[in-house]
Amino acid sequence: MKSNLYKLVVVLALSTSSVLITSCGESANTNQTETAQATYACPMDCENGKTYSDEGICPVCEMDLKEVEQ
Ligand SMILES: [Zn+2]
Repeated sequence: MKSNLYKLVVVLALSTSSVLITSCGESANTNQTETAQATYACPMDCENGKTYSDEGICPVCEMDLKEVEQ
């Protein structure tokens, strides 16, 4: 019982602080978000917005995939 309550408090504290960080530091947070969720797509958009999670080349035109913001 006690440990469950403690976990709940920790989870609440963590989620509250992450919400505060997100709302206060949007510009500072952008780099972290890009690193965590980088997606790549063909600069010519050969595949109608298809994205890849890793760098590589477009299978259609063989250009280097370009990192895109979500
Ligand atoms: Zn392409």
